[in-house]
Formats: sequence, structure tokens, C-alpha cells
Amino acid sequence: HCPTGALRERDDTQKVFDALADPEKVVVVQIAPAVRAAWGESLGLPREEATVGRLVAALRQMGVDYVFDTDFSADLTIMEEGTELLHKLAHKDENTFPMFTSCCPGWVRYVKAVRPEFTDQLSTSKSPGQMFGAVTKSYFAELKGIDPHNIFCVEVMPCTAKKAEVAIPVMNDACGDADVDVSITTREVDRMIRAEHIDATTLPDEEFDDPLGTATGAGVIFGATGGVMEAALRTAYHVVTGETPRPDAFSAVRGLDGWKEATFDLAGTPVRVAVVSGLANAGKLLDALAAGEVEYDFVEVMACPGGCAGGGGQPIHDGQELAGARGDVLWGLDRRAKLRNSYENPSIAAIYRDYFGEPLSERAEELLHTNHHAWSMH
Ligand code: SF4
Repeated sequence: HCPTGALRERDDTQKVFDALADPEKVVVVQIAPAVRAAWGESLGLPREEATVGRLVAALRQMGVDYVFDTDFSADLTIMEEGTELLHKLAHKDENTFPMFTSCCPGWVRYVKAVRPEFTDQLSTSKSPGQMFGAVTKSYFAELKGIDPHNIFCVEVMPCTAKKAEVAIPVMNDACGDADVDVSITTREVDRMIRAEHIDATTLPDEEFDDPLGTATGAGVIFGATGGVMEAALRTAYHVVTGETPRPDAFSAVRGLDGWKEATFDLAGTPVRVAVVSGLANAGKLLDALAAGEVEYDFVEVMACPGGCAGGGGQPIHDGQELAGARGDVLWGLDRRAKLRNSYENPSIAAIYRDYFGEPLSERAEELLHTNHHAWSMH
């Protein structure tokens, strides 16, 4: 905390309350994977009772029109990013490796500002939050017959860097308006719950709305370090072999180590991967790549140690590091999920059948991908 009070945490909750009070607005809220592992901490709810269903109920009590799951668009990100990786691997001579994940805006900004020579190696896939906004103001708006300009899209994120991501001027592909109107943190949604005098301990469990509320275990593990990599490998394995991977086939990338590496066999092709969390580790990995000391095909980078579970927008407990305990919640949800692979998500199958055609189609490129050179750092 700033000792003089001159620096305050940015609070966007009033923008959400204003939208909820506006009868013209259809307020759509998406909840990011890591938020479900932490939102109850500052509301007196034990971790096992702070279910995502109760958070859905709290948002409905506030008057939100549709409550959806960012895990859905995490599955969508995997379809796009996994296909992007396979295309690059199929044309190895024409591409520079490794390909880096791009779902963490803290990492993307670091590359652009500090190591711009690696910008072209970032996946062009938008983050799940941004993909969600683009789909809400296109596919979902068409499905429901809603004017996309009347949709107010809110994301609840474990992250403060997302506030800058939603303001990137080129993230407006669906209708010309921002894909996501406002990004609030886990701390802010907790503040809203308190401001509305909602007693979290008495909330019922409620389901997400359809069709953007259906997700798989692969979507939920996005919130833990190694989760994006594992989710991508599960789908890539299926695409190249036609088979369902064993549930723990890629578990070597789990765990809180700041720099993990592994090599997996995808139908006879060895794929060398690394997973780093924390920007200090990311800097070391880039140095090692530049010096030719290591070689990888695909690298997941999360700016926060432990990934989004330990994100800067999560509840703060002085002296405690909870990324591991929260990550365990997410891995547990994956273990118990009926569907564990993004390609098995029926809502994902429907959106490709009815709207996008296939990953990396022209429409998918237009709405779900971005050009990292189209905006500059300020
Ligand atoms: Fe945000 Fe941290 Fe997650 Fe990156 S790792 S998306 S900065 S919470």
C-alpha cells in the first residue's frame, strides 16, 4: 500500500453498477478459471464452500443478465492455439521456434517492451477473456437477436494487467466496440458482493447460462501454471492421433517450479516444451534461448509466479503465498470433470459447426486472433 495514499488501486466496480442500472444494457459477465479458487477467501467462506456456482448466484442477485464461464473460451483458445502450433510444426523450416503462449497480458507487454525481437513468436490467439468478448458480441448476439452495441461485457479476472488488455484499441473485432467493456479483479467482485449486502455463506449453487457456460477440465486448468500447456497438448495429441490422451499423459508440466521442461511424443514427432512462471524466470529463459543453450517448440509463460492462481487481482493475505493451494483446487476440478479435453466440449463443437467452420478459418482469424504489431506500448 502507498503510505501517503497518493497511489490507489484502480476500482472499476462503479462502471459495472452503472451498466446494471441502465435498462438498455444487457450485462454479460464471464468468470475466469482462477477466480473460482480464491473469491471466497475474503468473504469468510472456506475454500470447499466457495464454489463457482455460489459466485454465479451472487452475480445473478446483483442483476447480471447472463453469467458465463471463461473456461468455455479457454477451450476455444486451445482449439485455435493448438491448431496454430500444429500448423507451425508441419512447416518447421518456415517458422521460428519456440511458439509462445499469449494469454497473459503481463507477459505479452513484457515481450513487446523489453524483448521485442521475440514478438513474432507469440501465438496470435487472443486471450480467453478477449475471445469471450468477441464471441459474445458476434455469435451470442446473433443467437439471441441482441444488438451487440447494447451488450456490456464484464470479465472477472485474477489479474490487474487485464485492465490494460481490454483497453488495447485493436481489441474491437466483433462490432467496433471494445470486445470486453470492463475487467474487474477477484478483489473487486468481492467488494461488489459486500456492497450489495449479499451474504455469501447463504448463497445457493447456480449453473452458468448457456451456451457460453459449458467448459471442460482443460479450460479450468488455465488458471494454474502448466495448465495451458497441458490443455494444448491434450488437444494436439487428439488431432494428430485421433485418440483420447490418458488423463495424466502430460502431467510432467504441473507443479510450482518456475521453469519446467519436458519432451512429449506426438505420433512420432517429439515436441519439446517448457513452462515458466514469473517474469524473472521468463527473462532467464529468453536469455538461454538467445544464447542457443536451450531449444523448445512450445513455451507457456505466465507473469505471476504459480500462474493466474497467484495473480495480482486475487485476495491478498500478507505473508502468505496461496498460488499452490488455489492451483490444487483447479487441478481437482479437472480431475472430477466429466469432459477433460477442449475438443470434447459440445458448445465448442457447436460454435465451429454453426459459426467458425474450423480453427484458423477466416472468421476465426478475424475474431479470435490479433496482430501483436497493430498496437504499441505507451
Ligand atoms: Fe494476469 Fe498474472 Fe494471470 Fe498473467 S499470470 S494473466 S498477469 S494473473
